[in-house]
Amino acid sequence: MNNEINDYINRNQQQIVNHLVDIIKVPSVNGESSEEAPFGKDIQRCLQLAIQISKQLGLNTFINKGYYGWAEIGQGKPLGVILVHLDVVPAGENWDYPPFEGKLVGDKIYGRGTEDDKGPAIASIHALAAIKHSSIKVNGRLRIIFGTNEELGWGGVDYYREHDQLPDYGITPDAQFPLIYAEKEIIRILIQSETDSSLLLSMQGGAAVNMVPDQAQAALVKQSSLVEKINNIKALQKNEVDICLDKNEIKISTRGKSAHGSTPEEGVNAITKLNEILINLIDHQDPGYQIIEFYQNFLANDPGGKKLNIAHENFSGKLTINPGILKFTPPHYQIELDIRSPVGIDPSIILSEINSRLPSGFNATIQRGVPGLHVDRDSVLVKSLLNTYREITGDHSPPLAIGGGTYARAFKNTVAFGSSFPGQPKLAHQKNEFIKIENLIKLTNIIAQAVVNLDQQFKQK
Ligand SMILES: [Zn+2]
Repeated sequence: MNNEINDYINRNQQQIVNHLVDIIKVPSVNGESSEEAPFGKDIQRCLQLAIQISKQLGLNTFINKGYYGWAEIGQGKPLGVILVHLDVVPAGENWDYPPFEGKLVGDKIYGRGTEDDKGPAIASIHALAAIKHSSIKVNGRLRIIFGTNEELGWGGVDYYREHDQLPDYGITPDAQFPLIYAEKEIIRILIQSETDSSLLLSMQGGAAVNMVPDQAQAALVKQSSLVEKINNIKALQKNEVDICLDKNEIKISTRGKSAHGSTPEEGVNAITKLNEILINLIDHQDPGYQIIEFYQNFLANDPGGKKLNIAHENFSGKLTINPGILKFTPPHYQIELDIRSPVGIDPSIILSEINSRLPSGFNATIQRGVPGLHVDRDSVLVKSLLNTYREITGDHSPPLAIGGGTYARAFKNTVAFGSSFPGQPKLAHQKNEFIKIENLIKLTNIIAQAVVNLDQQFKQK
């Protein structure tokens, strides 16, 4: 560890905190687009502030029409980047402190973006400032790229890729430590079928395919035989199921527990709960029974995809499958799946495996695929970053392979490196998001030491 850098950062602790508070005060949620502010005027204002702080600290800066900006030190090649973003998700409700004030409470700074991803952005600016004010001479350039649209479409970093220089290596402190070397393929699959029903009037469930659905509903024709069965179910079910008998309809609603679609085992799927009720209600002779039976046989309670014969597994982990959105408006039945498949397995293979397994009358198509990410665990990039992290923190946790997607997918030879430390609660996108001052300062030091080491490793020979 370079002590000159470490001392500089410790001396400037108060200024680092102040800059984070300043930038939290700009509520940079995606807004109305205009020519100079493609993602809204608040994001534009936040980008200008980040550039202004960087300039004040002596970094070279550039801003490209509100799509992105950068701040850098050094000259020539290689070009190493730190990719951060300045946009935030909306605050949501029920905060204990105002989400856009950067309030200091004890050893914490509260506010939307403190961890995701303005804390890391401010830490990165001060990391480069610390290097610039030290006696270290970097071999190439170290550049922070300020993304502006990470939470909603990646328009900013896409614009960078089209208009600016691609990096030789990079890190993005927008996930977790120690680092993420593999991210699974993301495959969105739609399964459809056409069927009538004399009992089922409609079904729907889920709000986003990448979330475990926490609500689902069905409407059925009110028949006396069904009402009798319903009363039995009512006696069995305690919570999380509402059954409502209208004049002509029976309405059933189920509640589950939401979780991210990449970790379906952490949630309770409300569509599955609904289906489990319907399988005991719908007469086997009714044509609508086949869609209920299909769900039960191929999707229910099977986050690993065994029933569909796609339970792949490799170094990056196991395949996961989340039935996220259900719609049945007779005769159209459809269910959307969010599949996270181990790195390197071709989505078209998964699709043909599913289609060969589906009963007749059902058909699967790929709606969207996002390629996975894999940087070799023995690569210079991963080894150097892990060494730096371990030396500073003493934490020897292994690098991670995950099902989620991070900003690292924007560039080749780039990995997610921080910013949350192992064991820390998940705060991104939650109410009462905060960063501990101690962690903000430690993060600044880790980023600075890491990019100095990488610049040395990637030095052009
Ligand atoms: Zn983020």
